[in-house]
Amino acid sequence: MPGFELFGDAERKEVNEVLDSGVLMRYGFDGARNDWKAVKLEKLLAERMQTQYAQLVSSGTAALSVALVSAGVGAGDEVIIPTFTFVATFEAVLAVGAIPVLVDVDETLGLNPKAVRNAITERTKAIMPVHMCGSMVDLDPLVVLCKKYSLVLIEDACQAIGGSYNNKPLGSIGDIGCFSFDYVKTITCGEGGGLITNNKDYYRHADHYSDHGHDHIGKDRGAEGHPFLGYNYRISELHAAVGVAQIQRLDEFLATQKKYYLILEEALKTIPEVTFRKIPEGGVQNYSFISFFLPTETEAKAAHTSLGQHGVDASFYWFDNNWHYHTKWEHLKELKSLNQFSDSIEKAVFSSEEKDFSASDQVISRTISCLIKLSWTEAQVHARAKAMVAAINVVLG
Ligand SMILES: *Cc1c(COP(=O)(O)O)cnc(C)c1O
Repeated sequence: MPGFELFGDAERKEVNEVLDSGVLMRYGFDGARNDWKAVKLEKLLAERMQTQYAQLVSSGTAALSVALVSAGVGAGDEVIIPTFTFVATFEAVLAVGAIPVLVDVDETLGLNPKAVRNAITERTKAIMPVHMCGSMVDLDPLVVLCKKYSLVLIEDACQAIGGSYNNKPLGSIGDIGCFSFDYVKTITCGEGGGLITNNKDYYRHADHYSDHGHDHIGKDRGAEGHPFLGYNYRISELHAAVGVAQIQRLDEFLATQKKYYLILEEALKTIPEVTFRKIPEGGVQNYSFISFFLPTETEAKAAHTSLGQHGVDASFYWFDNNWHYHTKWEHLKELKSLNQFSDSIEKAVFSSEEKDFSASDQVISRTISCLIKLSWTEAQVHARAKAMVAAINVVLG
């Protein structure tokens, strides 16, 4: 997955151009700029994702928060998110005063549409599916639910940039799509994030909100208006410069990931007990991970250990992972916060503690994901495929 593995001359050139101009900030100083990297990256991102608008921000987490605020989600509103995601998803919801409502995932490793429907209440304002580990949630049923109940659909596509669904780039199907350009994502800015949308109001909101409410009208920053309250979620020009180089290499990265994925998949298919994560019809992965199931939790846990013993690094058993699965989110479930949350959040979060997520546990306890690295050689991938098969067969006996 990580674009940082291939950081090189193209990235250095873009960063050096910013250093030469001396303008490290994303807004203002128009006269002193040679090339406006943040604006350029927004243009490239919107083009690649086939949306009208793109707004860069300081992180993927910021993109999620800005997306929620831009769509009017706030205090007391419920936002449906999956039990399997990175903690950033619920952090972003809490940051805007809304209530994260955990909902089961299925064998797509994303939100189960039936469980989503059952979780909708009169307070639900948004559904936030997360396209985990390079593949996607089945979006059509969620689009239907959002239409029916007038909900906002915000795609967390931080781990699946470049994948598609019914020939549309992931992130472009919902009302807003969010990406992360942190250091370990498929393309990186070092730190950074972005959101895409076809909704002009949401875009304008995101543009202003992420920069203290600045309306960005005119050439004098100090004289600009503030039609509504904002915050600072700006990206820096230096970070945007890295992204300008990386986004132009996205399709090259995806092709490499796909090639390696197919080699690993072919090898794993020789093990009858191994089955693969479900890819929704019409979906094309970005191939940043290969995710598969063992028949039981015991076998999956043992296979994960065995992979390590066979020298297969970067494999993940999410069921035991502190950052990606609800069973380890006691800080959320017990609301261990440095500051006081609103009553509505406290009540809602505490009452969710007792919920039954055995359907998610059934899936995630059997799941193993292996990162696909861009820096491997093809020979290394073949050796790895062999080692993976050996490691798993030892466990299955
Ligand atoms: C990485 C990630 C984020 C947050 O991105 P940052 O840029 O690290 O803030 C959000 N959601 C998911 C699913 C992620 O993997």
